[in-house]
Amino acid sequence: MHHPPALLRSLAEKVGTPFWLYDARVIRQRIADIQFLTDSEGVQARFAMKACPATKVLREMLAAGIWIDAVSGNEVLRALHAGFSGGHHPPAIALTADVFRDNALDVIREHGVLPNIGSPGQIADLTRAGYTGPISLRVNPGFGHGHVNACDTGGPSSKHGIWHADLLSTKDAAARAGLAVTMLHAHIGSGPQFQELHDNLTRLAADFVALLPHFPDLTAVSLGGGIPHNYRDHGAQVPMEPLHELFDTCHRRLCAAARRDLRVEIEPGRYYVAPGCTLVTRVTDVKQTRTNEKGSGATFAMVDAGFVDLVRPAMYGSYHAIDIVGRDDEDPNMAREPIVIAGPLCESGDIFTRDDHELLAPRQLPRPVAGDLLTLRDAGAYGYAMSSNYNSIGRAPQLWLEESGVVEMISRRETVDDLLKAEGSWPV
Ligand SMILES: *Cc1c(COP(=O)(O)O)cnc(C)c1O
Repeated sequence: MHHPPALLRSLAEKVGTPFWLYDARVIRQRIADIQFLTDSEGVQARFAMKACPATKVLREMLAAGIWIDAVSGNEVLRALHAGFSGGHHPPAIALTADVFRDNALDVIREHGVLPNIGSPGQIADLTRAGYTGPISLRVNPGFGHGHVNACDTGGPSSKHGIWHADLLSTKDAAARAGLAVTMLHAHIGSGPQFQELHDNLTRLAADFVALLPHFPDLTAVSLGGGIPHNYRDHGAQVPMEPLHELFDTCHRRLCAAARRDLRVEIEPGRYYVAPGCTLVTRVTDVKQTRTNEKGSGATFAMVDAGFVDLVRPAMYGSYHAIDIVGRDDEDPNMAREPIVIAGPLCESGDIFTRDDHELLAPRQLPRPVAGDLLTLRDAGAYGYAMSSNYNSIGRAPQLWLEESGVVEMISRRETVDDLLKAEGSWPV
């Protein structure tokens, strides 16, 4: 998604750089894509809100009839604040966690949120907290594929979920505690290849069918998130027709095997929001290192955003499309050269042009000059949500571009007062 340079320049003038720019039209298109996937009776989508918990975004999901998958007590409270309802009829908010910390148990009990537990000992946690409602069990089915290895969500090396061989003993513990298991869940991750995703989901649905006789209280199975977003090539997004067919088939098979109606759930995070936000930053200088006995020289474009804003490249070597605003990147005759994009933090890893192997993976770009704006695209998922206050910089503002063209600031730039707000001196 390319925004007009004049728009970006005028916004940069008004709010400073860096800033995040959400695009309502793109997010609504992604919501419509998932509506198409879930249009069959009995298939329900949840938004994995950890990908982008802004109230504005949550309200888009609410308006579209999407439910919530939260991972902390505070995420649940943010969903309630946005207008979602707790309670088990329907269970519009689920809390998926391998660990209950802080207020998670209190929030589950007080607001009637469906706990989706990923560790057998959490049955005892729930009992101790006085919870007596329905629960969901998150299974580690022994297979799965994340978008990178560090994100594997199923298999022996994954910390997530209850190992499949331990599922029935966990079910027995739940029965002894008087907790009805109403959902089985697995999240096998956003594998990069559609065929792999398709095969994994099919296998998962078959595993769930085999488990049905053991779970008489079941009303739903969740196939998790992991609808991939292609960051490199928007033309190569997942084909929606076969995915629609797959969910439909899973639903029919499960209902047939159970001889009653079961809900099938999916919980996309990144797919909803990844392309719907751009991080806009300013080039402050362009400098060079020179080749010597330690290695080859590189050209560095220094920008005012860093991994405190967008951590995915530094954390996973993730790719984000980069444009120098106002240079026509469609123009094949535009002169390009390998350029490293580096941020302001006191960390040599504060580099946006990285990959799985290389600290510096220079990108072929038109050479910018100081003052140019530079955009990092597809930053809507795990972008602002993962931003931090390292180096005490404060989070950059989030802007929302409505389809009408009106732009609204939905969170302001954090100040030093925000950073100091939680500090004090209390006797303990
Ligand atoms: C993170 C997560 C998701 C969303 O994953 P995406 O790759 O963003 O679609 C869904 N379910 C669970 C349990 C998760 O932890």
